[in-house]
Amino acid sequence: MERTAEPYRIKMVEPIRKIPKEERILALKEAGYNPFALNSEDVYIDLLTDSGTGAMSDRQWSAMMLGDEAYAGSKSFHKVRNAVKDIFNYNHVIPTHQGRGAEQVLFPHLIQHKGQYILGNMHFDTTMAWIELNGGIPVNLVIEDAFDTQKEHSFKGNFDLERLENFIVEKGAENIAFIIVTITCNSAGGQPVSMENVRGVKRIADKFGIRINFDSARFAENAYFIKKREPGYADKSIESIVREMYEMGDFLTMSAKKDAIVNMGGMIAIKDDANLFAAASASCVPMEGFVTYGGLSGRDMECLAVGLHEGLDVDYLENRIGQVEYLGEELRKRGIPIQWPVGGHAVFVDAGKFLPHIPAEQFPAQALCNELYLEAGVRPVEVGSLLLGRDPETGQQKKAGVEFMRLTIPRRVYTDRHMDVVVDALAKIWERREQVKGLEFTYEPKVLRHFLCRLKPIEK
Ligand SMILES: *Cc1c(COP(=O)(O)O)cnc(C)c1O
Repeated sequence: MERTAEPYRIKMVEPIRKIPKEERILALKEAGYNPFALNSEDVYIDLLTDSGTGAMSDRQWSAMMLGDEAYAGSKSFHKVRNAVKDIFNYNHVIPTHQGRGAEQVLFPHLIQHKGQYILGNMHFDTTMAWIELNGGIPVNLVIEDAFDTQKEHSFKGNFDLERLENFIVEKGAENIAFIIVTITCNSAGGQPVSMENVRGVKRIADKFGIRINFDSARFAENAYFIKKREPGYADKSIESIVREMYEMGDFLTMSAKKDAIVNMGGMIAIKDDANLFAAASASCVPMEGFVTYGGLSGRDMECLAVGLHEGLDVDYLENRIGQVEYLGEELRKRGIPIQWPVGGHAVFVDAGKFLPHIPAEQFPAQALCNELYLEAGVRPVEVGSLLLGRDPETGQQKKAGVEFMRLTIPRRVYTDRHMDVVVDALAKIWERREQVKGLEFTYEPKVLRHFLCRLKPIEK
């Protein structure tokens, strides 16, 4: 694909440096072979996450000065509300400190009784946690093709509509709390959902009287994929694609740290259910803060109002997704196995295929993350068996469907030359891949162990 240049000039820079190899070896050892424990100063190119790591624009930074730090009725809040009305045509907005804050506030009002199901293409992990904490049962109904990394499919985030309908029929509509459409589907590798598929979800939802929530972290990237890949959308604007999609939903929860390009923020928006809005507002006050700030300062909301619009700019999206595709294509050219086609915010390297000599219980994707840090000072993140954890009943290590190493690309932060550093480093590791060793625990916390665990290489 033809690459466009960045549709912006770089006006401010943050110096980064690659510390010498001997220091990287030491830093990783001290971090217990867990990149989460590295100091960011010891990292050259940080591809841990695209959440809150984007570069704000001059317009966002200057909007900050307009922030109205009022507890109640701040004018900055009204700007967010107006942007949401303008973009999604939803009438009610509750700001929250980030995406999980929105889930925390809204979900208790949507789950009527314990044991109700919440059906999604693939729930994000905090989403799943808030469903479970409220007595609901999260169910993933993404298409099978999402798990086949080599299979060509334009919309691997799609729902399996037949399974969706069958599930509802089998369990009874009264046992379904609501449906969550996650766009793009983060857990499936940032894979998009097509408009046609959402139309199918909506048809089924209407048939059974079930409401739809959009988990909206990457709503603009999803719209861009529809424009590029779905027949009939090439000439439509990103704005009109977003409108068409959100017309099919009832409410949204959003982590604004992704497509809205802010370092902190989130929201709930509700199309027109005033009762639900009133109920969620009442919960917001003790949980996130008064309803016109929800855990955000006025300046945060100013940046958010601007960022919501900037994230929709088609030239920016073309360049951004183009950069992710560029990284993916260059890796593929060198024979490195990745999830294909690439998603919106990251390239997922199939570490199980890269390091077939390392079994799941020795965490091949984590081993590859460490090797990439040692090689070039790049910090990726493991999305495989280490993240998955143990079976709570048996204590057995679970085996991930795919052992992924995620190279997550922050927005407007790195250039293609940074991507080249990643490609060259992985190509070098590819040449000596048999030498990479598996890992074992020296410290394993009981819950969410991947954040705080310590490991060491297994010496044969
Ligand atoms: C990031 C994310 C969330 C949670 O948002 P936070 O801002 O990290 O709390 C929820 N859903 C999806 C799809 C996400 O990507």
